[in-house]
Amino acid sequence: MNPKRYIFFFLFLLLLLSPSVFSFPLSPVFRVVDGDTIVVNYQGQKEKVRLIGVDTPETVDPRRPVQYFGKEASNFTKRMLTGKQVRLEFDQNKRDKYGRLLAYIHLSLAQAKDAPDCMVKSGPAEFDFDASLISCGYGHAYTRFPFARMDKYRDLERQARFSNRGLWAGGNSYEKLFDKAGEKGISAKQEGYFVASRNSDKFHRPDCKWAMKISDRNLIKFKTREEAIKAGLKPCGVCRP
Ligand SMILES: [Zn+2]
Repeated sequence: MNPKRYIFFFLFLLLLLSPSVFSFPLSPVFRVVDGDTIVVNYQGQKEKVRLIGVDTPETVDPRRPVQYFGKEASNFTKRMLTGKQVRLEFDQNKRDKYGRLLAYIHLSLAQAKDAPDCMVKSGPAEFDFDASLISCGYGHAYTRFPFARMDKYRDLERQARFSNRGLWAGGNSYEKLFDKAGEKGISAKQEGYFVASRNSDKFHRPDCKWAMKISDRNLIKFKTREEAIKAGLKPCGVCRP
């Protein structure tokens, strides 16, 4: 090996061993949109980031009202992340269908001196912020799409609920807070109506599999069972209204 090559090789080794090569670059947080969405500078680009595996109550969707504890969740993320340098870690998919980055957000302990005890560490020097939102009761584990830490996040949610933390305080149930489908089911049962199709002589409970197949155009509703029978309809054999 000639001396020039030797020096080059030595410099190359030095570069490999320097910590900056091994540590991931940090992204400054420009803005917090809501509890689970932030805007960062990632590789020189302004990028919207949706946190993986956590869902906080809605505050900014104009189609929906501000949900219970949405403001608190949003304020927590603002307080902990605004102006900080975070490390993004990706899972299977780097982006969602809206083009947002999907990432776990890591925040160094040094930047979070005021961190509450409920926050979760992801290593000796960092917090896992996605996990911390769940653990502190600002959101629930979002399991609609698979992700590597799903079991851990579910566990954290169970602990937060058990400890009545944040939005779980006062024994709030998951169904009441997040499960809109469940809510619809309950109200349908409470209203106690029955449905039928204009093209059939049977009537059903609204959650019957046959009732689900009736198109809006053909749907008829009855407040009571008697009304349906008076209209000449017979009870469905499957849902037995
Ligand atoms: Zn039926």
